[in-house]
Amino acid sequence: MTTINIEINTVAYSVPKLKDYSPATLDKAVDDLLSALEKESAAVRSDAEWKSFRDRWMARKNGVLTQISVLWLGRAPSGAKADVGKRFNKLKQEVQNWVEGAWADVERRLVEQSTPIASGTLDEIRVAVLERESLDITLPGIQRPIGAEHPVIRASNEMVAVFRNLGYSVQEGPEIETDYYNFESLNFPPNHPARDTQDTLFIANQRARPLREQLLLRTHTSPVQIRTMEKMKPPIRIVIPGRVYRNDPPDASHSPMFHQIEGLAVDTNITFGDLKGTLDHAMKAFFGSSVKTSFRPSFFPFTEPSAEMLVSCFVCGGSGKRGSEVCRPCKQTGWIEILGCGMVDPNVFEFVKQNGYDPSKVSGFAFGMGADRIALLKYGVDDLQLFFQNDVRFLRQFA
Ligand SMILES: [Zn+2]
Repeated sequence: MTTINIEINTVAYSVPKLKDYSPATLDKAVDDLLSALEKESAAVRSDAEWKSFRDRWMARKNGVLTQISVLWLGRAPSGAKADVGKRFNKLKQEVQNWVEGAWADVERRLVEQSTPIASGTLDEIRVAVLERESLDITLPGIQRPIGAEHPVIRASNEMVAVFRNLGYSVQEGPEIETDYYNFESLNFPPNHPARDTQDTLFIANQRARPLREQLLLRTHTSPVQIRTMEKMKPPIRIVIPGRVYRNDPPDASHSPMFHQIEGLAVDTNITFGDLKGTLDHAMKAFFGSSVKTSFRPSFFPFTEPSAEMLVSCFVCGGSGKRGSEVCRPCKQTGWIEILGCGMVDPNVFEFVKQNGYDPSKVSGFAFGMGADRIALLKYGVDDLQLFFQNDVRFLRQFA
């Protein structure tokens, strides 16, 4: 016959009344209390159990510590009060330690339970993870705001689309360029004064290289013209959007980084008339069919002849006035300068002559405009910096 002894500790600790206040009686009472505390602490398994353990011992209203303070400290004769008080303070510390320790155990257990299974085949792990995860797929999802195009990119894309509809293809190129592509092949010879107008940002430590291999941040998108003509034989019609850099301090109309849109058409018999017709159409398509265009002579090293194109002010309709106020976008002139253009200089074709661009056989026109500038004009924004500060309250208005 087998006897099974089961130790059942069902009787919870209750604070006894002390029959006397001798050190021996006090020591015994404290020992009993501590062993009960240890046992109850070891039985704590969950968050909820820990809370009732903490409240049983530490609750202000009727917790064990409060009872001790009433039954032992409160009833102690004046001669024993100091002794009982000392033991009481020590007990308080002990209770606190055990309660904190029990919480650390509960936390550790929770972490262990949430640790994924590290062994088993992938399928076994998946099943185990699925069983452990409780996912309510009927809960509403997290709403994420849908982003929108930045106003500069949007204006740029719209302008590019106008040229795509005319049969132009989009080309892009590197933002870090060599002196050759940014200047030399575009008819800016070394020491040419036109280089000074570009406020170039050069890459450091390039002096040991030959000039044409020295690196810089491209000052315009024009290098892509040469790069494309090296790859593709004429005829070509390309539009080139992209970021460019110049050493301009930021203000309402300048930024060290800005955006250009450039175009190039090369074929036999391209004339200045083609240039005017194409750009006139593009401006009407972009700003509205009522705008007029006008050209005045200008200078660029890579085009000859060169021109600036103006569009009639679409804010004031060309009058220079808005009611009794002056029109600021056109500075009261009724015209807004919008782009530079011209017929490709034969010297530029010389650099790509071996790829079919014989200046005696082909001709072409090129143009370039600031994408930031057309965005400012199109959306009636008066400070360029707003485009680059990326304040959501500003950007949201274009979404
Ligand atoms: Zn105006």
